[in-house]
Amino acid sequence: MQIDFEALAEKYGTPLYVYDFDKMTENYRRLKEAFAGEKSLIAYAVKANSNLSVIAHFGRLGSGADCVSIGEVLRARTAGIEPYKIIFSGVGKRDEEIRQALEEGILMINLESEAEMLHVEKVAERLGKEARISIRVNPNVDPKTHPYISTGLHENKFGVEIDMAKRMYIHAKNSPWLDPVGIHFHIGSQLTELSPIREAAGIVADLVRSLAAIGVEIRFFDVGGGLGVVYRDETPIEVEAYAEAVTSAIRGLDLTIICEPGRYLTANAGWLLTRVLYEKRNGAKRFVIVDGAMNDLLRPSLYGAYHRVELLNDTENRGESTPAEVVGPICESGDWLAKDLPLPPTESGDLLLVHSAGAYGFTMASNYNTRGRAAEVACESGTCRLIRDRENFEDQIRLEKGHLEA
Ligand SMILES: *Cc1c(COP(=O)(O)O)cnc(C)c1O
Repeated sequence: MQIDFEALAEKYGTPLYVYDFDKMTENYRRLKEAFAGEKSLIAYAVKANSNLSVIAHFGRLGSGADCVSIGEVLRARTAGIEPYKIIFSGVGKRDEEIRQALEEGILMINLESEAEMLHVEKVAERLGKEARISIRVNPNVDPKTHPYISTGLHENKFGVEIDMAKRMYIHAKNSPWLDPVGIHFHIGSQLTELSPIREAAGIVADLVRSLAAIGVEIRFFDVGGGLGVVYRDETPIEVEAYAEAVTSAIRGLDLTIICEPGRYLTANAGWLLTRVLYEKRNGAKRFVIVDGAMNDLLRPSLYGAYHRVELLNDTENRGESTPAEVVGPICESGDWLAKDLPLPPTESGDLLLVHSAGAYGFTMASNYNTRGRAAEVACESGTCRLIRDRENFEDQIRLEKGHLEA
């Protein structure tokens, strides 16, 4: 839909996150259809954008949820996702989180180490409830993405090696408290090359075959997330080719494919709106200071990530564009949203639109510098609605106490 960003900024203030739910629907359907003909479950990776309305939107389309904390599991449940569509992943889970996940009756807990398996077994026994598990295999494949978002190499902390996975499956099969139903890999994020995925899927499918030979029957083939999107000029993987690569790796096996996209579903369906406060120069360098900052959108500071930034005002008579660094008010030199961005002279109140901010945007936001987190708006079928209030000062200090005592 055509979104009137100026009207939204006027009505809800800035910085403001805006999401296009129709676009999210379109992304979801395209991926789901790519797997048509296979048994498949899309489990939205909640950490990309965990607003309850976003999760509920995917839930209504049939999506499950991939969660990396009990908080995310509870978000998914609160948003109406059925337990049998929820997966709990992550390298470190507290016993209490495991217990709650088992009580919720989720589809499976994704294990990332032998030590974790023994904890899950113990908690399941204490609860008298068998735990469905999958094991995250680290196939040692280079995903060719940013090192911070690469996860499928032995040098990363994620998953277990093939031999260890086999030993763990045998243990699980012989345990009355563990039911090994799934296998999982997730080699990285913002993947733009298909060959590492094809390779990883092949390695893991072979493992499924050798497990079958020793009586471990895997039912869920979880290929993780990681599908890349266009931030600047990337050529993303075609989801149809992606689905074909996965499907052909498991040919002859009776498996339900689980796919856990986060970024693919939401990144380009979201924007951060921010207003210009003023400009300044330090020597030759030009800074445009805006009211959005690294506490709102951390990706540039954290990964040096590029986001397209667009000036929404009519600037025809303002003079020439020159390169500017767009920075926020936070007391860190790393607080920037765009570098070397050609901009005409700006005026206080001008509106900038930061593109591709629907994934790992709001969810990475913080209260650094005692800044309230931005409000969030969802647009769908021609209308927009507020889905999270802007945080105020009271919201931020609510849990603090004792400061006027003693
Ligand atoms: C982060 C994560 C995802 C989602 O990754 P995207 O790159 O956003 O698709 C999926 N599965 C697991 C286990 C993850 O940790």
